[in-house]
Amino acid sequence: MDFSLTDEQQAIRDTVRAFMTKEVMPLEQQALRRERRGLSALERDELRALQLKAKEFGFWGLSTPQHFGGMDLPAVTQSLIWTETGRSHVPFRFGGEADNILYHGTESQQAEFLLPTIAGERLSCFAITEPAAGSDAANIRMTARRDGDDWILRGEKVFITGGNEADFAIVVAVTDPELGARGGSTAFLVDRAMGWRSEYIDTMGEGGPAALVFDDVRVPGRNVLGEVGQGFTLAMQWIGKGRYAIPSQAIGIAERALGMAVDYANTRETFGRTIGSNQAVQWMIADSEVELEAARALVLRAAWVVDEGGDPRHTSAQAKLFGAAMVNRVVDRVMQIHGGIGYTRELPIERWYRQVRLFRIFEGTDEMLRLIISRDLLRGHTKIGGHLG
Ligand SMILES: Cc1cc2nc3c(=O)[nH]c(=O)nc-3n(C[C@H](O)[C@H](O)[C@H](O)COP(=O)(O)OP(=O)(O)OC[C@H]3O[C@@H](n4cnc5c(N)ncnc54)[C@H](O)[C@@H]3O)c2cc1C
Repeated sequence: MDFSLTDEQQAIRDTVRAFMTKEVMPLEQQALRRERRGLSALERDELRALQLKAKEFGFWGLSTPQHFGGMDLPAVTQSLIWTETGRSHVPFRFGGEADNILYHGTESQQAEFLLPTIAGERLSCFAITEPAAGSDAANIRMTARRDGDDWILRGEKVFITGGNEADFAIVVAVTDPELGARGGSTAFLVDRAMGWRSEYIDTMGEGGPAALVFDDVRVPGRNVLGEVGQGFTLAMQWIGKGRYAIPSQAIGIAERALGMAVDYANTRETFGRTIGSNQAVQWMIADSEVELEAARALVLRAAWVVDEGGDPRHTSAQAKLFGAAMVNRVVDRVMQIHGGIGYTRELPIERWYRQVRLFRIFEGTDEMLRLIISRDLLRGHTKIGGHLG
C-alpha cells in the first residue's frame, strides 16, 4: 500500500500552495477588517481577478472537461487542491467551473448556460431545499404545471447558496405528484429575467444564502434540464460532489488552525512556562492531529473511489460526516488553546468557528449521513471493511 503522492500530485499541490501564499493569504487581514465592518471578505470582481491570475498559473476548471477548456483533474488531485485553498479563510475558489449537472444540458442549453458559467460571465445557483423540505428533499412542493409548450413554476426555495447573486437558477420542481420525487420531479434552467425574486437570509457565516420566490414563473419547455422526471436524480448527483469537496476543505482549515495552536502553545507563557508544557494543552494538540489524519485518510479514499469509477456514496458520506465533525472539534480546541485572543476578531479562529458549523448541516446533515451509512450496512449494500476487497 503506497500512501505517497505522485510527482504530479506533489507539483500541483506545491504550485497551488505557492499561489495561495503569494496572492490570496496577503488579503486575509483585509478580509477580517472588512468582515468586522459587515462587508464581504472578497467582492465578486476581486474574486474574478484572482481567478484570472490563477489561470495564468495554469489553474482553470479543475473538474471541467478538457474540450471545455478545463483541467479535468482526477478527484484525488482536486481534493488536494481544495485542502490547499481551505487553508486560507479568504473565500477563494478557482474559476472555470460549472455545476456538474449542467453537462446534462442539450447543445443549445450548454451554449446558453454551461459555457458562460465556465467563463465566469454568468452565475448559477442550485435550488432544491424548501421551507418544508430540507433533509426530506423528496417532499418538495414547488410545482411545475404544463401550459402548452411552457411550464409554470410556483413555490418557494430557501437557503440557496448564491441565490441573490445568480443570473439563473437550476430549480427542481414537482411535475407529476402521482409519481413522487423519483420520477415526478424535474430540473429547470430558469433565468432571473423570467421573473423569480430573491432575498438574503442572514446567517452566522459569510455570504448569506437566499430565499427564492417563484410566483407563476413561465419557463419554456426547452429549459428542462435532462429528462422530465429526472430532477431528483440530478439533485443527488449535484449534492454528491460536495460530499468530498467539503471535508477536503475541512482538512485545510484544520491544518492551518492546528499549526497556529502549536505556535501559540510554544510561545504563550503562563505561570513561568509555555502553555504547551501542560498536558491538558498537549492532549488537545494530539487529539486534533490524530483526527485530522483520520479525516484525510477517509477523504482521499472517497476521492480515490470516484477515480476508480466506483460508487462513491458510502465512502463520501463517511468522509463528509467525519471531516465536518473533525474540523468543528479542532477549531474549538484551537480557540480554547488561544484563550481570550482566540475569541476576538483579530484572529481568523472565530470566523472558522462560525464557518465550519455549516459543514455539519448542508449537503447532507450529520444525521442524514449516518442514516445513509447505517442503511447501507443494515441492508447489506456495503460490507464492513469491504473496500479492502
Ligand atoms: C448556508 C446554507 C447553504 C445552503 N445551500 C443550499 C443550496 O445551495 N441549495 C439547496 O437546495 N439547499 C441548500 N441548503 C439547504 C441544506 O441542504 C438544508 O438546510 C439541509 O439539507 C437540512 O435541511 P433543513 O434545514 O430543512 O433541516 P431539517 O431537514 O428540517 O432537519 C432538522 C434537523 O432534524 C434532523 N433530521 C431530519 N430528519 C431526520 C431523520 N429522519 N432522522 C434523524 N434526524 C433527522 C436533521 O439532521 C437536522 O438536524 C443550504 C443550507 C444552508 C444553511
